[in-house]
Amino acid sequence: MTPNGSRVAGGGVRNPDIRPGEGRTRESCLRRAAGALESAGADSPITDALVLTSLAASCTQIELVSDPGAEMSAESSARLDGFVARRAAGEPLARITGIKEFHSLEFETAAGVFLPRFETEGLADLVIEAAREASRKRGGARVLDLCTGSGVIAVTTAVEVPAAEVAAADLSLRAVELAARNARIHGVGSRIEFLVGDLYGAIAGEGRESRFDVIAANPPYVRSMQIPLLAREVRDHDPREALDGGSDGMEAIRRILMGGGRHLRDDGVIIIEIGEDQEEESVRAAEDAGFLSPPRVSRDLAGLPRYLAARKAVHGKAGD
Ligand code: GLN
Repeated sequence: MTPNGSRVAGGGVRNPDIRPGEGRTRESCLRRAAGALESAGADSPITDALVLTSLAASCTQIELVSDPGAEMSAESSARLDGFVARRAAGEPLARITGIKEFHSLEFETAAGVFLPRFETEGLADLVIEAAREASRKRGGARVLDLCTGSGVIAVTTAVEVPAAEVAAADLSLRAVELAARNARIHGVGSRIEFLVGDLYGAIAGEGRESRFDVIAANPPYVRSMQIPLLAREVRDHDPREALDGGSDGMEAIRRILMGGGRHLRDDGVIIIEIGEDQEEESVRAAEDAGFLSPPRVSRDLAGLPRYLAARKAVHGKAGD
C-alpha cells in the first residue's frame, strides 16, 4: 500500500502524484526484470531476477517475496534497470552482485579476475584431503596454490585445515589483492602468503622455503583457438590470461608439472585442474616430468575427467 492509499478495492483509482516510474512495487519490478531477462535469452531469468531485484531493493530474497507489495523507490528501480541491462548483455550474475559462493563460503569477485567455477570445488576437496593427510603425518602442511585467482583454493584449504600454511600466487596483481581480501574476510589472512609472479617464479625469492606438501593449481587450460567459441559470460568477462593455455591448452599444465619435482617434498602431491579432453596429455606430461608414482585423473560431478594428481614417491617406494 502506498502512503497515499492509492490502491482501493475495485482498482482503477490512480494517485495523480505518482509519476511514471514511481509507485512500483517489488513484485511489479521483479516481473518486469524476469520478463526482460527471459526475452534476452538468460538461462535462469526468474532466479536472476530475484537476486537482482533484492540487490536493487537492498533486501533479502525472503523479504522480497514475503512483502511483494512494498514500494520500490525510483532509485532502486533505476538501479535494477541497470543490473538487468548488464545481465541481459551477458555479464555473469556473480560479477553484478560482487559475490560468488564457493565451497559454502562467500567470496568477493572483481572485474578482471577469473570467476570461481563450480567444478573447481572438486579440486578444493582433493587439496583439502591432501593437506589433512600431510598435517596428520607431519603436524603441519605447506600448500602452494598457483594461479590462485580470487583465492578460493588457498582460502578454503586454510579454513578447513587449521595446520595448513599456504602460499598463494598469481601473475595478476589484481587477483592477488582480491585473494588477500577474501582471506581476510574468512579470517585466514595470517596463514596465507600472497605472491605475484609467473608460476614458480613467484616463490623464487631468496631464503624462502620452497618445497611443499601440496601444490595445487587451476591453470589456464583452454586452447587459444577455442577462446572465441566460449560462452560470452566467460569470453567477454574472464581475463584471457586465466583461460588461454596456448595452442594445445597444455602450456601452463606442463610447466607446473615440470617444476613439481623441484618444489615438492618427498611424498608431496601435485593436484591440477585440467580440461575434460586433456586426460591423456596430462598423464603423459606428468610422466615426462619424472614423478615416481603413476599420475591419476579423477572426475568432476558431471562425470568428466577434471583433476590430475601425481605424487612424488619416496625413492624405492614407487608403485606402492
Ligand atoms: N573451465 C573453464 C571454462 O571453460 C576454464 C578454466 C581454466 O582454463 N582454468 O570456462
